[in-house]
Amino acid sequence: MRSREQDFSRWGERTKAIHAGEFPDPGTGASAPNLVMSTTFVVDADTSFSVEGMGEEDPFVYTRWGNPTIRQLEEKLAVLEDAETAVAFASGMSAATALLLHTLKAGDRAVVSDVAYAAVAEATNELFPGLGIEVVKVDTSDLDALAAALQPGVKLAYVETPCNPLLRLTDIGAAAEIVHRAGAKLAVDSTFATPVATKPLRLGADFVLHSLTKYIGGHGDALGGVLLGKAADLVPLRKKTSIRLGGTLSPFNAWLILRGLATLPLRMKAHEENARKVARYLETNPKVTRVIYPGLPSHPQHALAQRQMKNFSGMISFQTAQGKETARRFAEKLRFIHYAVSLGHHRSLIFYLHTEELLATSFPLATRKQRDSWKAFAGDGIFRLSVGLEDADDIIADLEQALQ
Ligand SMILES: *Cc1c(COP(=O)(O)O)cnc(C)c1O
Repeated sequence: MRSREQDFSRWGERTKAIHAGEFPDPGTGASAPNLVMSTTFVVDADTSFSVEGMGEEDPFVYTRWGNPTIRQLEEKLAVLEDAETAVAFASGMSAATALLLHTLKAGDRAVVSDVAYAAVAEATNELFPGLGIEVVKVDTSDLDALAAALQPGVKLAYVETPCNPLLRLTDIGAAAEIVHRAGAKLAVDSTFATPVATKPLRLGADFVLHSLTKYIGGHGDALGGVLLGKAADLVPLRKKTSIRLGGTLSPFNAWLILRGLATLPLRMKAHEENARKVARYLETNPKVTRVIYPGLPSHPQHALAQRQMKNFSGMISFQTAQGKETARRFAEKLRFIHYAVSLGHHRSLIFYLHTEELLATSFPLATRKQRDSWKAFAGDGIFRLSVGLEDADDIIADLEQALQ
């Protein structure tokens, strides 16, 4: 790939986000990346029919094996995350399940954040134990609990920071040391932070996962996921649990996400600026009982956030006295903020997460200490607010009128 021959290390984040991985089309000179909507490629007679012998730089054969548009996205992401290589997937969940199925087999153990993306929590509660893989759920923000969980046989520790929906952080550098001492690998879901805020591989993680559906795509129009890390891990993973399980990203989605990703550093700056203003406003609203934002001194782990996050991102959680009623009011009265799940879009989104319901479904926390930590961050329920790129004053006014 021509783009790889360039020395990206001297470039700033914005230049990388715009130019890394991309190159003008050699045939037409087109400046924008090509959208290659072809499932198959014309090859020579020596091409192998099996993916087994495929090299990373071999010509394209079939889009599930690799595609020029997807490849450009993977290369841009690898440069931005300081990774040797990247494998893109159809969704964040597809990336997560491919990672778990690649690193774990029957008889192995995994340690997983007790609070993580709901579908990750649910799959590791049910699907993986059903395959004979033991999953231990711990609050990974508690490093002693993490160390205690790393019993012999643990192959992988899976951490999300800041975690969805609590915005609780895990110290990646410290976790990496503990996990490696136990002979396991560390995976970090960095969807909420993005590469603009945190580079987990530099801090010692072995794998980074992003849902590209969120900040990286940034516009709420394409699902996608990615795994990043060392070539020694990801080259075999691409064959075993990407190509064979088939959670392949659509080239069209790759193209949309490439376009979104080009402005990621600019957008994250604006998301953070807006979120700080909105969080400060919420702290002054008498209807709001608690605000959690890593960028506020009131966040219980603000010092760690300052150390680990170069950008505090756009995710806020807050509580009101009557959560369910406020949720109903928001769904009816908000003028442009959408009452909807998902996050990281240019549009502001808000959704209520009810503690009792979640502890009975996605997060059956095992110990009193784990439930206390949930309560300390979420009380009886939280509003997860993904602060968009509208004018901060307008976002504040919309919340204000709906809270009245
Ligand atoms: C959304 C999300 C996922 C799952 O991503 P999809 O693209 O929806 O499959 C995983 N982790 C986090 C933190 C997320 O927010």
